[in-house]
Amino acid sequence: MKIYDIETVPSRKKYDVAIIGGANMGSAVASFLALNKDFSGSVLVIEKDMTFQFASTGASNDCMRQQFANDINILIAQFGAKYVKNFREFMGGDPEVPNLTIRNFGYLYLSDNDDFTEVLKRDQQTQSRLGAGTQMVTPEQIAEAYPFYKLDDIVAGSLNVVDEGYWDAPTMLKWQIRKAKEHGVEYVQNEVIGLDMAENKVVGVRLKSGESITVGKLVNAAGPRARVISNMAGIEVPIEPRRRYTFTFKAKKPLDRDLPLTIDPTGVHFRQEGDNYLVGCPPMIGDPAVDFDDFGFEDGIWEKKLAPILANRIPAFADIEIIDAWVGHYEFNTWDCNAIVGAHSKIKNFYFVNGFSGHGTQQAPSMGLGLSELITYGEYRTLDLSPFSYSRLERGERLIERAVI
Ligand SMILES: Cc1cc2nc3c(=O)[nH]c(=O)nc-3n(C[C@H](O)[C@H](O)[C@H](O)COP(=O)(O)OP(=O)(O)OC[C@H]3O[C@@H](n4cnc5c(N)ncnc54)[C@H](O)[C@@H]3O)c2cc1C
Repeated sequence: MKIYDIETVPSRKKYDVAIIGGANMGSAVASFLALNKDFSGSVLVIEKDMTFQFASTGASNDCMRQQFANDINILIAQFGAKYVKNFREFMGGDPEVPNLTIRNFGYLYLSDNDDFTEVLKRDQQTQSRLGAGTQMVTPEQIAEAYPFYKLDDIVAGSLNVVDEGYWDAPTMLKWQIRKAKEHGVEYVQNEVIGLDMAENKVVGVRLKSGESITVGKLVNAAGPRARVISNMAGIEVPIEPRRRYTFTFKAKKPLDRDLPLTIDPTGVHFRQEGDNYLVGCPPMIGDPAVDFDDFGFEDGIWEKKLAPILANRIPAFADIEIIDAWVGHYEFNTWDCNAIVGAHSKIKNFYFVNGFSGHGTQQAPSMGLGLSELITYGEYRTLDLSPFSYSRLERGERLIERAVI
């Protein structure tokens, strides 16, 4: 991603809002604040690496779907699709802003057993009630629409090709940053190393370069490092970095139509990537937290895990050539795989926008809008994000999102 012309030291000593992290979440919040005529405060975004190379954002596969299990996540996905399809309008109507589109190859969940088929059926009913285009499909229907799959073990699937697929999320982020800056948001490439607290409030941030900045409100948009920032305020959050692998590849014999983002019963998922293909997966054994800076591959992940699964599901993928590969970190919420958003119950000027567990790129527009409303008006006005409040953790309540890929 392009490195922006960027300062390292803030121009002022005091800001109404400081956002730690300028990637998907931080810049979504910043751009919605900047473009809201009712908000007139000063905003500082502190981002330690504006290339986003090691951020979750930089590793994202940039796909969106409505096939979630919770109402709120489906509504969030629908707003995300609306935002992408009306991007220029959301960016203030500037004709220079590109129109973004969704490549609707869809998502196809495959089930190889009756229990999971029942789960998919329940989710399909939830999604359908909220207007999503998901349909349950039989192996025969899948074979007719996509003759390239081997389906002998498959009992059923769920498929939606409306507003599900890929979009150009890096361009979205680039324009969010540009518009935020045009409307007065200041970005600095620097690292927050401490918070100053007084009477249950965050009053300042300390930067690695030595400056201390006074802040009115603080937004934690630090991705997998959300816990590090929270700990600076004496708060615990159940968020940890978990490793995910992505490979892109060319097939010697390409498929004759778009490959939906297919979630194989093994948990491996693959999809169309331009004229080529992309495959992603969790580790081979378990899914442990890893070090923040650990982006290493497991030995044999391609040969032992991915290659056999791909060739089994799509025989044409027995003959492929790897183009690229990378490791990224999910900012995984171990409590219930859902976001933690909004103000802390006691430190009321500390705002979370964390824990997206693998679906944060598509949720960034809704989260940016929601948090900007909470900061501006003291309430959510478009989408009620209060089910994601930190207080659910204090009450011991889980809002489990089952459909995590
Ligand atoms: C392999 C992979 C594939 C994915 N695919 C998808 C997908 O298809 N669709 C989807 O919706 N989501 C996907 N996701 C999830 C998505 O990428 C994340 O949920 C989303 O990018 C989270 O954005 P964020 O801004 O919260 O975190 P991040 O992108 O991690 O950004 C946090 C930022 O905070 C900065 N920071 C941290 N600490 C400090 C500090 N002390 N001082 C200053 N800056 C700091 C970091 O440098 C970083 O840039 C995927 C994730 C991975 C790993």
